[in-house]
Amino acid sequence: MAKEVFYWQCPFMTCESKFDAAASRLTHLEDNHWVKTPARIMAHTNDEFIQAMNELRLQMAKIDKAIRPTPPPLRRPKQQLSLYDDGDYTVVLGNEEEGQVEVSVSSQALSMCSPVWKKMVTGNFREAIEKKMSLPDDDGDSILLILAIAHMQFLRIPTYSTARSEAWLHSLAVVCHKYNCEMVVTPWVRQWMGRGRNLAMSKASQILTAMEWLDISWTFGDVELFQKMARLLMEEGVHSKTPNVLLFHSEPVELQAAPPSAIGT
Ligand SMILES: [Zn+2]
Repeated sequence: MAKEVFYWQCPFMTCESKFDAAASRLTHLEDNHWVKTPARIMAHTNDEFIQAMNELRLQMAKIDKAIRPTPPPLRRPKQQLSLYDDGDYTVVLGNEEEGQVEVSVSSQALSMCSPVWKKMVTGNFREAIEKKMSLPDDDGDSILLILAIAHMQFLRIPTYSTARSEAWLHSLAVVCHKYNCEMVVTPWVRQWMGRGRNLAMSKASQILTAMEWLDISWTFGDVELFQKMARLLMEEGVHSKTPNVLLFHSEPVELQAAPPSAIGT
């Protein structure tokens, strides 16, 4: 049973914000703490005037900073979470910029989850000697969910109503595919796919959503949905020269978890 409710904290000492998902914290950081770079601004608007104004504002902020340098905001120490009282191993979730969580776990449970983690935990690697692995590039919400299930902390598992969008499910599929641990979440996946899957099956999906559903259906072995999405993508997309990349209106979109031969060249 879960002993405590876990929240992802904002990494800055001056901010008390807490979130039930790492993805929500990322949005908070982007909206409140991080200086928007021209690239980030461009992703949000096509209006050239607004872009020019934003760039000007950014330059002025830089000049202002150069004249009166301000110390960087203080950061919190890493968060701690124990999933197992007799934990003999630490998994570090998240990256330094967003904030990190050290999770105390059982190395045996890790080994049972994933053959990749088993090698890292038992092989001749730094991760085995230090009894710690950092996963800064992986989706923290997905890794934490997999670890919670592996340690029978079922209260941490999202229900049908709290399971998030296909973007959430897609992040989970990418992590499960990478570490070959699909089996850990298999009993819940159909429940989480729920309404989103029905929509994808019943009507013409948006292309970008179809790309996500292709990865999801491949990873979790949903043949019916995989065939439907693959057919849709083949009809609507144009092959690029790079394997696993399709072009939609000249925009490249990459498959992350589906098999290399799903979309040929
Ligand atoms: Zn904050």
